[in-house]
Amino acid sequence: MEKLIFEKSVVGRKAYTLPKIDVPLSEGIPNKFARKKDARLPETSEIEVARHFQHLAHQNFNIEKGMYPLGSCTMKYNPKINEKTAALPGFASSHPLTNDEFSQGSLQLMFELGEMLKEITGLQGVSLQPAAGSQGELTGIYMFRAYHQHRNDTARDTILVPDSSHGTNPASAAIAGYKVDTIKTNESGRIDIEHLKSRLGNHVAGFMITNPSTVGLFESQILKVRELINECGGLMYMDGANFNALLTLARPGDMGFDCVHINLHKTFSTPHGGGGPGSGPVCVSERLRDYLPVPQVRFEDNKYSLENDRPESIGRFHTFNGNFGVLVRAYTYMRMLGKTGMRAVSENAVINANYLFRKIDKYFDVPFDDHCMHEFIISGNRQKKQGANTKDIGKRLLDYGFHAPTVYFPITVPEAMLIEPTETENKQNLDEFADAMISIAKEVEENPELVKTAPHSTHLRRLDEAKAARMLNISWRNYKN
Ligand SMILES: *Cc1c(COP(=O)(O)O)cnc(C)c1O
Repeated sequence: MEKLIFEKSVVGRKAYTLPKIDVPLSEGIPNKFARKKDARLPETSEIEVARHFQHLAHQNFNIEKGMYPLGSCTMKYNPKINEKTAALPGFASSHPLTNDEFSQGSLQLMFELGEMLKEITGLQGVSLQPAAGSQGELTGIYMFRAYHQHRNDTARDTILVPDSSHGTNPASAAIAGYKVDTIKTNESGRIDIEHLKSRLGNHVAGFMITNPSTVGLFESQILKVRELINECGGLMYMDGANFNALLTLARPGDMGFDCVHINLHKTFSTPHGGGGPGSGPVCVSERLRDYLPVPQVRFEDNKYSLENDRPESIGRFHTFNGNFGVLVRAYTYMRMLGKTGMRAVSENAVINANYLFRKIDKYFDVPFDDHCMHEFIISGNRQKKQGANTKDIGKRLLDYGFHAPTVYFPITVPEAMLIEPTETENKQNLDEFADAMISIAKEVEENPELVKTAPHSTHLRRLDEAKAARMLNISWRNYKN
């Protein structure tokens, strides 16, 4: 095994070059704060440091190593130019307390990004403040509540959520103080309209749907659903985290939604995973506009400014203007693509998923035999009976150089694998992934033990996943549990 940086340390070896001091030498650190013993830092040469970090990077899976078909997460390739613009000193070094007069460029970027998001969602208002998709959901549901309260319609205490929605949807509704009533979906993965009808009434504050749903299907009855919800006085929320399926093809505003959040860190190209930062802007219909968080970016008399004087606003959801660097990346991405480029994004996302689906569907169980959107579901039920389950298949994929798909989600499908190839993979990559899946299916038939004990080629084999998540230890020391 490769030696760790501390083990490579040799006293006296150096790898630093400090710039010449250009400020007066200070008195030094007050004695009571000064270190009594030297810090134990590794002493190595520059190349050893470079090798150390390369080595660590190689142990990890990432999109630049191979395809990352993690359903619902849109782990696509993010163009490097986005990083360049986000790092421009005018953006990156701008202090968030700088007054409007000296922040015109940043404000213009936020304003124009907001206008583009309104255009692609077909809605009338926007806030860039939420720092994640789930926070966008909470923002939206707070606005629903403000809307009903403002009309003195305060008996509405329930949000209806189909069972094909992302788990964050019922969680957000509950955190906002609502009861959650789960609406069933039918065998085609769409809303059970009769069940929905039986749950309607003037206790309904709104309906919250992930579209496309977590099984990768477009809700084809959405106009009917909208009609029913609006009839009973409820509002419509769409979880648009996976907007790469719809971009320029369909607009939530045209379907009658009052609020939609979009995950900039998925569709609009900010690398994510490992916890952020992200951005989940919300777009709203005319009737929710007054409740949007403050501040709002305003453009008047050729000047951009931050508007705080909005009496009906639900308030602030994040310090300053949210995660600004993510906004710069999204803006760059959209301006680079333009309308035709954005159309290619959604078309390729959908075509790639359908192509891959139909290449492997014969080898696995298929819960919904229908055209998918940007992702699709297969089940490892058949393989489980042969001796290796979905988890084992996910692990075995690592040996083939692919990241595992999303597994055991959505929970409505047993042994689920949710596969999202994304729009940035070409036909050769899709073919290679399909070949890997087919070959694993054959391995399960012939030698399930091989799959059950995978991965065989990675630095570490099977981790205790609960511990890895809850008791993460990233120290170089080899602690004994
Ligand atoms: C990722 C995702 C979310 C949550 O977004 P976060 O930014 O992780 O909070 C919500 N809904 C769907 C459909 C998603 O794919």
